[in-house]
Amino acid sequence: QQIYDVAAIRRQFPVLSREVKGKRLIYLDNAATSQKPQVVLDALTRYYTDINANIHRGIHTLAEEATAAFELTRDAIQRFLNASSREEIIFTKGTTESINLVAYTWGRQNIKAGDEIIISTMEHHSNIVPWLMLCEEKGAVLKVIPINDDGELLMDEYKKLITKRTKLVSVVHVSNALGTINPVKEIIKIAHEAGAIVLVDGAQSTVHLDIDVTDLDCDFFAFSGHKLYGPTGIGALYGKRDLLLSMHPFQGGGEMIKEVSFQSFSYNDLPYKFEAGTPNVADAVALKTAFDYTEALGKENIRQHENELLSYATEQLDAIEGIRIIGRAKEKISVLSFVVENVHPQDLGILLDNRGIAVRTGHHCAQPLMDRFGIPGTTRASFALYNTKEEIDELAIGLQKAIKLLS
Ligand code: PMP
Repeated sequence: QQIYDVAAIRRQFPVLSREVKGKRLIYLDNAATSQKPQVVLDALTRYYTDINANIHRGIHTLAEEATAAFELTRDAIQRFLNASSREEIIFTKGTTESINLVAYTWGRQNIKAGDEIIISTMEHHSNIVPWLMLCEEKGAVLKVIPINDDGELLMDEYKKLITKRTKLVSVVHVSNALGTINPVKEIIKIAHEAGAIVLVDGAQSTVHLDIDVTDLDCDFFAFSGHKLYGPTGIGALYGKRDLLLSMHPFQGGGEMIKEVSFQSFSYNDLPYKFEAGTPNVADAVALKTAFDYTEALGKENIRQHENELLSYATEQLDAIEGIRIIGRAKEKISVLSFVVENVHPQDLGILLDNRGIAVRTGHHCAQPLMDRFGIPGTTRASFALYNTKEEIDELAIGLQKAIKLLS
């Protein structure tokens, strides 16, 4: 049994030792982006110091080493998601670009006037706007799965939304604003029975849950590296091979072609067909280091730690008068959203920042979800593998003082 030594873990994240407004930083904005361990920072420096070359085309040693390192991360992502082949892993900037890739390629090829796309009430704007744009262009219809007051999808309503015209269901695996874990396997099964395909937004789930795209049987899966202790600007799209083969490329340029003349061009093989231009090699290489880092700590250990933090924080905040937690799903990860009566989240956020506590305030890129709850926004504390109960105590004290001052 490995001991989860959170003090030792914290020392591996340099930013956690800095001060904000003269106070030790308490970073509780992990759902927006996570901090990076020293090994990830070292991997970035090592890549630029020792290798740095453009990939795939070169025959010199540096180009070969850069290509090998880049492609090793593709293999790591394949294992991380349990995809059946490395060809099904396409590097992107992150979740947003992955979803847009599908909307621009598969969407424009397959969605016609009158077709229907289903999303849910708790989607991030990046899983709403690309579909709105597509629906507008094609005259298709966007339908939305409603939720209950605890922030859980109403599955019976979902079943009723499905018709013969449903072509795509695109849902978030874990809500960034509520923490809800959605029953995506069931959602996928229902969609497939109706002949629709499914995209899963894994931006928040990849860092907390074990992902198995083969078991889920999803058609597309999108995620961002920066949410799981990796660098910004790198992520991936998983797509089933047959679907990817049937799709036109996303962008044109180098790398995605086999032959080019002034009359025509032919596509490269998967996955390169979807990777036009020089990719983000350095960040891709360091992403593998982030996977290795969390694997070494043990995902189950991390999960247990974060679940304890969530229970503890929920208890602490429930005990503070005036705080109302938004999102009480039975299945949730370590995200805690709340509102305080007569207090604007932004004012709360500023007072907490004065105490060195970083939380997120606002609509969390989920305005329609805020509308559903009849609120302009929430304050959100989200916990990662390096957070502690002492930090949650500080949050609770900070909140009590702020509420006294503001109400
Ligand atoms: N979906 C969800 C659920 C998210 O939390 C985020 C990031 N806040 C995104 C999509 C978009 O991810 P990115 O900004 O990394 O592309």
